[in-house]
This record gives sequence, C-alpha cells and structure tokens, in this order.
Amino acid sequence: ATSAPARLSARALVKRFGETTALAGVDLDLADGESLAVMGPSGSGKSTLLHCLAGILVPDAGSVMLRGRPVHGLDERERSLLRRTSYGFVFQNGQLLPELPAVENVALPALLLGTSRREATELATRWLASLGLAGMEGRRPGELSGGQAQRVAVARALVTQPDVVFADEPTGALDQANGHEVMRLLTEATRAVGACLVVVTHDEQVAAWCGRRIVVRDGRVVDERRTA
Ligand code: ADP
Ligand code: MG
Repeated sequence: ATSAPARLSARALVKRFGETTALAGVDLDLADGESLAVMGPSGSGKSTLLHCLAGILVPDAGSVMLRGRPVHGLDERERSLLRRTSYGFVFQNGQLLPELPAVENVALPALLLGTSRREATELATRWLASLGLAGMEGRRPGELSGGQAQRVAVARALVTQPDVVFADEPTGALDQANGHEVMRLLTEATRAVGACLVVVTHDEQVAAWCGRRIVVRDGRVVDERRTA
C-alpha cells in the first residue's frame, strides 16, 4: 500500500548564520490538512525553520518539497511566485500596510495573483465577515484593536486559498482572550480552505489548537507528539 505523499516535507535542513548553526538537520512531513505547532526555547531555530519551509530563507543544505515540487531549486522570482500562490503568512504584529483600509489589505494578495479588483474586493469582504469583522472593511489597521488587526491578517493569509499557512507567534502581541479567539479563527479558517497550518509559538495554549507539535532545541527536533 502506498501512503499519500506529504503536502510539505523537509529533509536534512541545515541553516547557518556565520558561526551560528540555526538548523542542524531537520526532517519534517506535513500531511494534507495537518496543523503543526513548532515549540522550543528562544533562539532554538523555530523562526529559521519556518522561513526555510516557506521559501523566505534558502537553507545551506537539505531540501523542502511542496506537493512533491522542490521549493529551493527555484530562483528567487519563482520562489516569490510560489510564496504568493501557495502560502499564507501571519506574523506577530500583523504586518498590515498601515495606509490601506482593512479590505484592501486583505484583497492585496489576490490582486497580486491577477484576480480582478472587483472579485478580490468581494473575496476580502467575505473573509472579513467570516472572521467577525463585517462593517470594519474601511478601517485602517491603526483604527482597529490588536485582536481585530490580527484577524485582518488571518483573512489576508487565507484570501488566496493557500496550500500552507505559516504563523510565527501569531498571538504574541495579544492578551489571552484575544489570542484564544485568533487561534480559534485561524485553525477554523485554515481547515475550511483545506490548508495545512504551521504555528511557531512558545505558548502551550496556542499549541493545543494544533493536531501535532514538535519541540526544537539547538536547531534539532528533540520531541514530537500528537495533541490528544
Ligand atoms: P527562535 O525563532 O526559535 O527564537 P531563530 O530561528 O530566530 O530562533 O534563531 C535561531 C538562531 O539563529 C539564534 O541563535 C539566532 O540568533 C540566529 N539567527 C536567526 N536569524 C539570524 C540572522 N538573520 N542573522 C544572524 N543570526 C540569526
Ligand atoms: Mg522566532
């Protein structure tokens, strides 16, 4: 019997910064629809792993495959296209464009893929509504609460129906109640589009939203378990 190939897989990933070995050989397989929490102490290599999986950083050795296609055999132009078409991102501080209203922040990734302005605006409006932000389409990020802004970032990550959503400390700037709500919406929305989710966090309660967790220490995966 053959098992389904992993949607995203990494083999023997190594990444150095000068004298620092940030990743010392990481293997990882993410099945269709799986959600993974990446935990571990500060400086252990979590963000570096996310950036290598996401094609933002090029590893010094090893490979990353998305649906069987090598992510790092590509040149930067092709990698940037792959990031836009196949990946969604949520970072700690949203990284929304401050001068654009919420609806335009969400529509932008779709526009960049060639979706018409009308369709992108419709999609963005629907995503904002499904994340509890109906009526807030016209607000700029500075006119939203931290939790609302992070929900706009979730909408922006999902508007292109990505294969994988990457979130680095998505609740790091939020209080517990808002963090809980953002994780509930992020995991629900990710599941709804059939995407995989990779969440870097040091927070047990955030990790509990994911089906599986790994612990990274000194650039290696030292523990791995399924969440009950
Ligand atoms: P984490 O996200 O787990 O806190 P990182 O992946 O950010 O850890 O960092 C892992 C190690 O690599 C740390 O020692 C960090 O200082 C180093 N590092 C990360 N990014 C860079 C960089 N751009 N330049 C130099 N060193 C870096
Ligand atoms: Mg980090």
